[in-house]
Amino acid sequence: MHTSTSLSIKVIHAPDARLRIKTKPVRKITPALLQTLKEMIKLTQTFNDPEGVGLAATQVGLEESFFVARLDSSSSARRARLHGSKQIPPSKPGQRKKRWQEYGKEFMAVINPKIITTSKATKTYFEGCLSVPTIWGEVKRHISIKVSYLDITGQNFTKTLKGIPAWIFQHEVDHLNGILFTQRVLQQKGKFYKFTGKDKTGTDMFEEMTL
Ligand SMILES: [Zn+2]
Repeated sequence: MHTSTSLSIKVIHAPDARLRIKTKPVRKITPALLQTLKEMIKLTQTFNDPEGVGLAATQVGLEESFFVARLDSSSSARRARLHGSKQIPPSKPGQRKKRWQEYGKEFMAVINPKIITTSKATKTYFEGCLSVPTIWGEVKRHISIKVSYLDITGQNFTKTLKGIPAWIFQHEVDHLNGILFTQRVLQQKGKFYKFTGKDKTGTDMFEEMTL
């Protein structure tokens, strides 16, 4: 992991109070906002272990409603979703972290996101966050959600997301409401894990922990 010095933004870590701010809608898509979104994508790409798949405005100290994320349906994303359909027991969180890392490569910018409806069905994900390094946890998220948002041109989209993209969207919208995944784990009485390093084969190792 390295952070480029050419970027004017950096990722804020918990317990920084700026991560608890509820953002306000973007009123105008300005060249400055587009520049920020570009930098956020670049910054997210500097994280590869664990790989960054999304970054919300609050995570770089900004107070408007936008995030960048990999929400594409590339082959790697489809593969990740297939893996996702198999329940992996909580004793093997490393495999689930790998699934997160296998997610597709294309980033998109999402402005003023809204979750309109959610499926009753939920799924437990092994979740991490660039603002909460080395801590992972089990979070139940809706399998499918109907969302709306603006793209960088200001065009409004309404879409149904399923699986990994739905999961990431929910994590990022939580950020924009000042909610970290660790709060979800606590609410749901899920388990926390600490990343403890890699074994000889390079597989990530985790230890259950309490927060
Ligand atoms: Zn996060």
